[in-house]
Amino acid sequence: MAVISGKKIESCKLLINNEWVVSQSQNHGDIFNPSTGEIIAKVPYGGKEDVNKAVISAHKAFQEWRFTPIFERARYMFNFIKLLEDNKSEIARQVTIEHGKTYSESLASVQRGIEMVEFACSIPTLIQGEFMENIARGVDCETVRQPIGVFAGITPFNFPAMVPLWMYPVAITCGNTFILKPSEKVPLTSILIANLLMESGLPAGVFNLVHGGVDCVNAILEHPQIRGISFVGSSNIAKYVYETGTKNGKRVQAAGGAKNHLIIMPDANLDLTTHALKASAFGCSGQRCMAGSLAVTVGEIHEPIMDNLVNIAQKMTVGRTDNSDTTNEPDMGPVISQEHMLKVKNYIATGVSEGASLRLDGRNVNTDTKHGFYIGPTIFDKAKPDMKITKEEIFGPVLTVIPVKTLDEALELGNDCDYGNGAVIFTSSGASAREFKHKFNAGMIGVNVGVPAPLAWFSFSGWNSSFFGDLHIQGKEAIYFYTQQKLTMTRWFDDNKNTAFKDPIWKQNKKE
Ligand code: NAD
Repeated sequence: MAVISGKKIESCKLLINNEWVVSQSQNHGDIFNPSTGEIIAKVPYGGKEDVNKAVISAHKAFQEWRFTPIFERARYMFNFIKLLEDNKSEIARQVTIEHGKTYSESLASVQRGIEMVEFACSIPTLIQGEFMENIARGVDCETVRQPIGVFAGITPFNFPAMVPLWMYPVAITCGNTFILKPSEKVPLTSILIANLLMESGLPAGVFNLVHGGVDCVNAILEHPQIRGISFVGSSNIAKYVYETGTKNGKRVQAAGGAKNHLIIMPDANLDLTTHALKASAFGCSGQRCMAGSLAVTVGEIHEPIMDNLVNIAQKMTVGRTDNSDTTNEPDMGPVISQEHMLKVKNYIATGVSEGASLRLDGRNVNTDTKHGFYIGPTIFDKAKPDMKITKEEIFGPVLTVIPVKTLDEALELGNDCDYGNGAVIFTSSGASAREFKHKFNAGMIGVNVGVPAPLAWFSFSGWNSSFFGDLHIQGKEAIYFYTQQKLTMTRWFDDNKNTAFKDPIWKQNKKE
């Protein structure tokens, strides 16, 4: 049984107008503790009725919230930071219970989320417009950025606290109101954080929470009073949400999946690179959109890297995370669900049948429990460019390795990839790093950094089918996404001077 803020939760409620209410839907799904496979609570699969209630609440709140001075709006975020800091360990514990990542990983992800709220506190400075006087005689011009209305956020399972926090602190500080639909697999963390938002004093209706899956998303996509949508999830759904949302007249930013390449040059530092590869591929059990999932070794470093990597990966401990803390936790926790575990295992079977060499097989990993959804670190060597394990996102602890002879070959392989989130080079050569940085078709580049995921102050700039839209999540682009620009041109008539309609110099000269 789930316990949130000291209260037992059997089934998730919606937050509408600062009140916890029961969903109109009779259809419910299970929320699991992936460490044990136990059902810990139920989540309603809401649809139009629930979304409509949330929109009424958010739309009403917008009428006043948009005119609340921005410093006041930011002040709620200062309160919210304090509450998040004070409750950090409880939030991280909740993330671990419903998601399965280790407590250390959860704590780090909550910290990344808090940084988004810190960023939101700087919006009063960042949102300022531009002004130019005398763009014509007696005419001044200015731009401001204004809020748009009701926004909705639709989030994935893999970061229950951090990804929702990418969205609503910025959206609401900019003056919009918000409806969050978290992943139906991990809605409990959002309930806990919504309680803190209420405690921060945020006016009723500014933030609302609904639950569900496809029907709920479709109701959001169709609702005419929802002006914009932030989406994070897999690429097929991101594309669907982008296409349907924009067709319905909404702004949409939709971040999708990834297949991030890690290029290892012959001059890379062997030990440090191996550790970075391990963390990138197997951190959060490989369930990160910035996880390195395809390593491309260039030249003679292939064998030493493989030997080192297999050696350290096979020593990784895998087990329950729900009963451990930073002092006694395993290196890796479970994956999110039974279904996902089977999907990842199927990919491993596919890799074997496609002819890649399975150097480490995590399918029958030893753990401290008989239950739960576990897969150990898995490494494929000598994969080929056209294999499924090379091209598709597996989203589990599976690293595919391809040896090539030159950086050009590695770049060609990388630029053939449908995705374009992150790409990393390990090298001690500035020239190789520079060439890679310039030529690789991905939005976030690492040089000897295994997971080049940007912090809150920079935009999360995925390319290709890793992102659909124009303005990315995080950083200044997020402020542009959640606001629209208004331009005002002003002329004041001064009857005594009558300068306003005076001819420009070039016309006066012509007359002479
Ligand atoms: P998902 O696409 O299955 O679900 C994401 C959201 O979409 C959920 O809220 C879900 O309810 C909804 N959804 C699912 N199927 C739908 C459908 N058919 N129609 C409408 N809505 C639907 O993703 P997931 O499995 O929860 O998360 C993992 C994925 O998210 C991976 O692909 C990962 O790379 C990606 N991700 C991307 C980023 C990024 O910044 N690019 C960050 C985190 C995760």
